[in-house]
Amino acid sequence: FTVLAFESSADDTCVAIVNSEREILSNVVIKQHDEHERFGGIQPYVALQKHQRNMPIAVKRAFTEANMTVNDIDGIAFTRGPGMHGCLAVGANAAKSLAAALNKPLIGVHHMQAHALTPLLTQPTSEIPQFPFLTLLVSGGHTLLLLANKIDQYEILATTKDESIGRAFDQVSALLEIPWNKDFGPGAALEQLCAKGPPIALVSETGSSSKSIERTVGEFPRPLKGKLEFSFAGLHSHIDRLVKNKETWKDFNPEQVKYILANGFQQAAVGQLEEKLALGMKECRRRGLEINHVVVSGGVASNTFLRKRLRACLGELSPTNPIHLVFPPPALCTDNAVMIAWASMHRFLAEDFDDLTIDLRPKWSIHDLRMD
Ligand code: ATP
Ligand code: FE
Repeated sequence: FTVLAFESSADDTCVAIVNSEREILSNVVIKQHDEHERFGGIQPYVALQKHQRNMPIAVKRAFTEANMTVNDIDGIAFTRGPGMHGCLAVGANAAKSLAAALNKPLIGVHHMQAHALTPLLTQPTSEIPQFPFLTLLVSGGHTLLLLANKIDQYEILATTKDESIGRAFDQVSALLEIPWNKDFGPGAALEQLCAKGPPIALVSETGSSSKSIERTVGEFPRPLKGKLEFSFAGLHSHIDRLVKNKETWKDFNPEQVKYILANGFQQAAVGQLEEKLALGMKECRRRGLEINHVVVSGGVASNTFLRKRLRACLGELSPTNPIHLVFPPPALCTDNAVMIAWASMHRFLAEDFDDLTIDLRPKWSIHDLRMD
């Protein structure tokens, strides 16, 4: 069964073709990073216009890459939500019109379910995550720790009480005036800056020039200790205050200050993920659930520092019975239509199709996946 899928919930225009043999036949992603840099974040109307311009180009490329025609397509999938309404509509309308014209079945997919299921496509057959598994979804709009019970049943163990980790990465990157480009968005640019020098411990006893900056920076906030809930707004505003307090930095090299603040932020943000992941594992043990896999996905999961730290954290949590920590390849962590095609596949195979009149769900909790 071959699926053509559309994704346009945020700022990437994506079209892909995937089949039920787990083959990715094409994967087109047209990014808009450079369009949004000057605004310091995604501008919904600009994103919508770019989707409208780029969608037909993406469709053409997807068929060329796969060396296929519409006659080779068996079903059409699109992102139904959550996301920005106008942006979602571009992918949804393309999908619906094609499904109607070609008389092919249509399925609307939950964007976060698609992020969570990506490793079921990308892992080698012997290493496919088995339900129930834990999944940490860290993206531009979400920070979710989920218990994936079944392919279509997810329990939210923790979510953010304020902003998402991806948004915090983007905003801190903008505050520190880290340049980005069409290949690397703000979060990835911050990671690259952090990786330029040696890792730093923020609290240190012995003195050297950078140590005195570290003392000035002090401890970064690690909120909601012991609670199954995330928060990144405090960390973000902590950096905001530090950056704006120019007097503190007047004797320091600005590049060094930037480097230390970026690292302090990244360490604290990832530290929070480690703590909540450990709490989530504990909660599963308390319920007598045996968890063998943890899936980490969403744009921020492409961060190498995060991958290293979560590996070490899980190794410490369960030294005797190693838990498989699974990440999709970085290019499939950020938005793509491959994940949308794959998340629709079980429904196409079960002939559980949607009606052509299906409407969008710009706000849609993964907890209510089966809502009509
Ligand atoms: P959602 O999936 O919640 O609807 P989204 O689709 O906009 O949001 P994704 O494309 O999954 O989000 O992820 C984008 C986010 O990932 C951005 O906030 C971006 O800065 C962040 N990101 C991407 N690469 C990295 C990286 N290497 N380090 C940190 N953050 C990153
Ligand atoms: Fe996403």
